[in-house]
Amino acid sequence: MNQLAPYAANPDKSIGRRYDELPSPLRNAFQRDRDRIIHSTAFRRLEYKTQVFVNHEGDLFRTRLTHSLEVAQLARGIARTLNLHEDLTEAIALAHDLGHTPFGHAGQDALNECMKDYGGFEHNLQSLRVVDKLEQRYAGFDGLNLTFELREGILKHCSVKNAKNLGDVGERFINKTSPSLEAQVTNFADEIAYNNHDVDDGLRSGLITIEQLQEVQLFAENLQLVRTNYPKIESRRVIHETIRRMINTLVVDLCETSAKRITKLDPKNIAEIRQAPYLVGFSEAMRAKNLELKQFLRRNLYQHYKVNRMSAKAERIIRELFETFFIDTGLMPYEYQAYAKQDKARAVSDYIAGMTDRFAIREHQRLFTVE
Ligand code: MG
Repeated sequence: MNQLAPYAANPDKSIGRRYDELPSPLRNAFQRDRDRIIHSTAFRRLEYKTQVFVNHEGDLFRTRLTHSLEVAQLARGIARTLNLHEDLTEAIALAHDLGHTPFGHAGQDALNECMKDYGGFEHNLQSLRVVDKLEQRYAGFDGLNLTFELREGILKHCSVKNAKNLGDVGERFINKTSPSLEAQVTNFADEIAYNNHDVDDGLRSGLITIEQLQEVQLFAENLQLVRTNYPKIESRRVIHETIRRMINTLVVDLCETSAKRITKLDPKNIAEIRQAPYLVGFSEAMRAKNLELKQFLRRNLYQHYKVNRMSAKAERIIRELFETFFIDTGLMPYEYQAYAKQDKARAVSDYIAGMTDRFAIREHQRLFTVE
């Protein structure tokens, strides 16, 4: 563990848990949060949820579980460099996608559309619902009873309307203050991880090519270095070597730029971090390069017609599941039927959001196919 900066989140000075608990004799509060996340049902389900490619398409593509592990790896490295609390960044990273629906963004958009008259569906807010309410494993409380700092880190975005119903973790969206540096770091680690692993998965799937990627400056510069230094290596190694250099370029820039901004502000404690504008970020030049990469992926991968076909199927499955359960809640497992008596739409939404890709596909078959 590194030397903790005075403005880092400190488990001994945590704002606390919703339900008081005796401290653990062995683990700090953030370690304990992380351990609860790893033992949760929602965490195990990440293995079978899509990032971009539907889970059954191949064993080598990222899932939400491997994505979350990559985010944790990057976030910890950056936190250590900046003298922030590694355990907190790791825990936020492992929890950040717990609320995702099956089938990635296509699934979330479809569920949000189904829920538009009932408060909508937003995956960040759902991640918080999972850790605050939906995990029901502990004798003394619903949810995982995580620290404020962890819950704050999970809630990356939130509308003011929703923030008003959230109490403490919603306040910063109303007051326009900042979260901890650990939360800020994890957001960037998320972005660095998915942009780069989507390049890797995109190339592996054949939906994008090295030739196309030459138009992206960050890729082209690093590819050039690899080809100059290693003219004889085969293409699989060229790709990995280029991507690891892209990740490194982004992480180094992020650490240097953020360290400079922190030094300039010279915050004495975490309260000053919360009052300051976001301090973690890329230099202007790197921000532009990163944006170019994102835009390339949106145009060429996320909107590729083969990805669109998967998304259209996913949206149909989610919509039909929602309509079917909404009309007849008696088709859902008993615990959701009971919950539906209080809030029908939210019960159906929670049931669907918790499904893995393959469970949603099978559930759809069970409801619509007579065999
Ligand atoms: Mg993510």
